[in-house]
Amino acid sequence: MEKLKKIWLNGHLIDWENAQIHILTHTLHYGSGVFEGIRCYKTAKGPAVFRLKDHIERLFYSAVVLEMDIPFSQQQIEEAVLQTIKANELEECYIRPIVFFGDKMGLNPKGAPLHIAIAVWPWGAYLGGKETVDVKISKYIRMHPGSADIKAKMCGYYANSVLASLEAHKENFDEALFLDYEGFVAEGPGENIFFVEQGKLLTPKSDNILAGITRNSILKIANDLGIETKEEKISPERAKLASEAFFTGTAAEVCPIGKIDDVLIGQAKVGEITSQIKKVFEQVITGNNDAYLSWLTFLK
Ligand code: PMP
Repeated sequence: MEKLKKIWLNGHLIDWENAQIHILTHTLHYGSGVFEGIRCYKTAKGPAVFRLKDHIERLFYSAVVLEMDIPFSQQQIEEAVLQTIKANELEECYIRPIVFFGDKMGLNPKGAPLHIAIAVWPWGAYLGGKETVDVKISKYIRMHPGSADIKAKMCGYYANSVLASLEAHKENFDEALFLDYEGFVAEGPGENIFFVEQGKLLTPKSDNILAGITRNSILKIANDLGIETKEEKISPERAKLASEAFFTGTAAEVCPIGKIDDVLIGQAKVGEITSQIKKVFEQVITGNNDAYLSWLTFLK
């Protein structure tokens, strides 16, 4: 990766190249860490972080699931995020806080040192910046909600996402799509999914997915636009009949889908409702829509 200036580690900003971990780091071996993905956008009033409080709240929720006792308050971590962006002199970036167990072997992490780090870097369109992306339904299913607390954003879960992503790319698709253990559409490896069906916006219920902060924002924006929204179980057959589809996520933002397996969605063009929602979302994140200013935390 391109070298930047500073990384925040356990309360201090350290030089990028010194942000190293030991080979016997518990989280490296067992996936026993929790993390967040957040974005900071350039606005007319300077850089602003989108839904910072909600992301840090989810980070602390995830940490509780792993019985991690973070020795900082949520507010201190929010401030540390802003401090890290400033230290790297970025106007726009992706933000990656991670909480992880340090060197200790054996599955029980009790007694391992706990670390918390925040890295930031410029990150453009996550899914390649194409007008629409091609999606392959994965042979792997989304993590069973009985196997772990899937509302937490735990490092280990992403082995499931990495496998699906490798599979999709090997077959020349841009991204994977998971079904849940019941065979209904769940989500992408790092994105939620929406469909347009007869002018209504449809998204899988939150039971078997990580119901993302972007998903929540899009549901609110759609409601405010007067678009009817429905959270339902969606079969893959029904999904393929949708007139429009798009992914949402912090990294992916609002990303139109042109194909699911070998079925074109909306002739692989960005649909009307998708572009309407995408446009408002872009106004919101760049501080150009006063109704949603409370979702932005400006760097002072
Ligand atoms: N699902 C999964 C599995 C994810 O990793 C993400 C990214 N955090 C999302 C959905 C989207 O969540 P958010 O909008 O909060 O980034």
